Amino acid sequence: MVQGKPTIVGALKCQRDTFLLSDFETTVVSCVEIKDNKKNKKKSGDTQPVATHILELEDTILFPEGGGQPSDTGYMLLNGDESQRINVLQVLREGLHAKHYVDQAVEPGTKLKQFVDKEKRLDYMQQHTGQHLLSAILDNFFENADTLSWSMGGIPTAKKPTLEPSDYLNYLELPRRLTKEEIEKVTAMFNEIVSLNVMPISVEERTADKKADETVDTKKVPDDYDFDAGILRTICIGDLDKNACCGTHMTSTSQIQGILILDNQTSVRGTNSRLYFMCGRRIGDYAKRLAEITAKTKVELSCSETVIVEKITTMKDQLQKGRKKEQYFIGELAKFESQRLYDRLLKGEKLYSIKDDYGSLELLLAIQKEFQALCETNQKDCKETLVLCGREKTLSMGSLLVISPEAEAIQTTVQGLQGILKTLKGGGGKNGGKWQGKIMNFTDQEFSTLEEHFA
Ligand SMILES: [Zn+2]
Repeated sequence: MVQGKPTIVGALKCQRDTFLLSDFETTVVSCVEIKDNKKNKKKSGDTQPVATHILELEDTILFPEGGGQPSDTGYMLLNGDESQRINVLQVLREGLHAKHYVDQAVEPGTKLKQFVDKEKRLDYMQQHTGQHLLSAILDNFFENADTLSWSMGGIPTAKKPTLEPSDYLNYLELPRRLTKEEIEKVTAMFNEIVSLNVMPISVEERTADKKADETVDTKKVPDDYDFDAGILRTICIGDLDKNACCGTHMTSTSQIQGILILDNQTSVRGTNSRLYFMCGRRIGDYAKRLAEITAKTKVELSCSETVIVEKITTMKDQLQKGRKKEQYFIGELAKFESQRLYDRLLKGEKLYSIKDDYGSLELLLAIQKEFQALCETNQKDCKETLVLCGREKTLSMGSLLVISPEAEAIQTTVQGLQGILKTLKGGGGKNGGKWQGKIMNFTDQEFSTLEEHFA
């Protein structure tokens, strides 16, 4: 390596020695301030470090985003001094260059020691190498199951910093759906290659002056990667698979540890299908989170896990039946109440109905409907103002309907009631008809004042 020149992407230390994750010494080649820093701007109260400068280094063990693998994060120490810590927030590839986004300026020529966020990198390596092996098995031993693309899950973003358990899943896009038997078979083959029939994983590096290897598909190499100046990396899993890839990989299939493939697949782009999987230690984290959810559900439903679905189905059914019963009684009550109102109409008394506890809007509308039907049946033209008010006591909320053929009568009634009900808001009935409103905070005091008002 020539002093003062950055190593090109393709020959980076992180690509050549994927298990070197700490204490790597390197030198700063260039440092550029991030001028337009809107995205990275530090907000008040923000305790997270923010990228202010871009460094290029002689070499790096921090992997830049590529090959479906996200960027590493980590830190660097000045003179091995823990108090002079430079955070590396991301590393991006620009052509053949690896650009380190850091939270402070560092003079070119400065020597630094690098440290990678180890847990994260090992997880990415397990998912990424697992994807190579899964695709290789499907490609070699299954009909019409070549990988069209893949996506790694389990990466928190600014938009979604906390992940759902299902976010841990990676997926392959395949030309078709796999059967349950095929999933069982591919899982068994995969687990055999990571346990009984372990294979070494090696990398072949070729520069442009060497003859192109016809057996390797280079379609996946990014367009902005300069092949003539760069290095083609081919990842070989034993004699099973050869694949061009710039990512960081395990050195043996045993390090992938194992795979979980879900039977549930989703259809995309016509007949294509997404096959969901995860590898290694991530499976344990996923299982732990699902176990917590299952344990809480068991307590809530007082049942064992195998009957959770059955229990929920029964509860949904009971809820539906209960709802039907409720609707029946609302109808019956509405008939009874509308008859009472109709009798008052005949006697020339005030038309009002006030319901507490479960005085829902649904009940008020049912009373209105039944009352109008009664008037129509008896060919009685109601010119009086009808007031229907209900409170749902547990929610401290209420509804109000004021019905009259006269707009002025509606307005006067509503204004009068607004004097009692402080949080009453609503509208309608500008040309007569129905005014409908909500009471956001219906107090006990207001309810008794309202009863006195109509008494
Ligand atoms: Zn790869």
